[in-house]
Amino acid sequence: METEQVKCLIIGSGPAGYTAAIYAGRANLSPVLYAGLQPGGQLTTTTEVENFPGYPSGIGGPELMEDLRKQAERFGTDIRYGVAMSADFSASPYKVTMDDGKVVEAKTVIIATGATAKYLGLDDEKKYAGMGVSACATCDGFFYRNRVVAVVGGGDTACEEASYLSGLASKVYLLVRKPFLRASKVMQQRVFSNPKIEVLFEHNAVGLYGENGVEGVHLVKRMGEADEQRYDLPIDGFFLGIGHRPNSDIFKPWLDTDEVGYILTEPGTPRTKVPGVFAAGDVADPHYRQAITAAASGCMAAIEAERYLLNG
Ligand code: NDP
Repeated sequence: METEQVKCLIIGSGPAGYTAAIYAGRANLSPVLYAGLQPGGQLTTTTEVENFPGYPSGIGGPELMEDLRKQAERFGTDIRYGVAMSADFSASPYKVTMDDGKVVEAKTVIIATGATAKYLGLDDEKKYAGMGVSACATCDGFFYRNRVVAVVGGGDTACEEASYLSGLASKVYLLVRKPFLRASKVMQQRVFSNPKIEVLFEHNAVGLYGENGVEGVHLVKRMGEADEQRYDLPIDGFFLGIGHRPNSDIFKPWLDTDEVGYILTEPGTPRTKVPGVFAAGDVADPHYRQAITAAASGCMAAIEAERYLLNG
């Protein structure tokens, strides 16, 4: 088994991972970054990013991530295309085993593995990806100004997405499979009192249709019941709000997570309960989940790693 010792191992290549790499590289930590299953992270699946400061005309998601990658490389980051398969944080140096079997022994580890938006699993979600299907209202809502959209889900994420989209779209349908919302009371009130949002309870989306993008959704009302009804609803955009899954599974034996799986850190810092192991970006952030907040926490994690090594 091949083993390698490094000062700073960064796992993940979204805005948090690359920003951590830029800072760690400039601090002479010779960071090694494993890019993971989706090099560049979630932003590589969006078209236009208009809310990342510094780009007055917006920038393509893949282009932004390519720029961040180059910037990380410029300061000496060793970027590798591999996936972390298991971790052992029982003692320093911490061991992370990669998918090629290599074991990286690291004095500091920055976990920036992100979160994956959940999809319903319909073939049409793939067919219309980037053509009317989105799992991020803040990223893509702007493209649906004065248009009709649907949001799937009945939790806080869906209610938040629906509320956000109501400020842009002409009409927002909230498609809820149960006869009630699971969201917090305050979110529910916000949705129910919003004249632009119409909640369709006991509705399941089973497919999408359209020539060059989404033009509507196939719905089933009271699926499986005697009075089940099937009908089509014209919409321009289909948003998933059924939750995210933080990519934290391999770290759970060593770190604390909340009930959803987000890694718990010391409030206001990327420090986990294991000294020298830090979590940055969406894997530790159930609240903001923005590229810029992920980048900021990546920066914080690298500064923490540098200080930890200085004091260690
Ligand atoms: P939740 O698990 O709370 O809700 C998911 C929703 O999606 C539920 O209504 C669920 O339906 C529905 N759903 C799941 N799978 C499907 C499916 N296959 N088809 C149709 N509907 C489906 O996830 P959230 O992301 O909303 O929230 C996660 C956590 O993050 C919560 O603790 C929440 O409070 C928190 N959060 C807080 C926010 C805030 O405070 N501003 C914002 C966003 C999240 P069902 O009820 O039938 O299972």
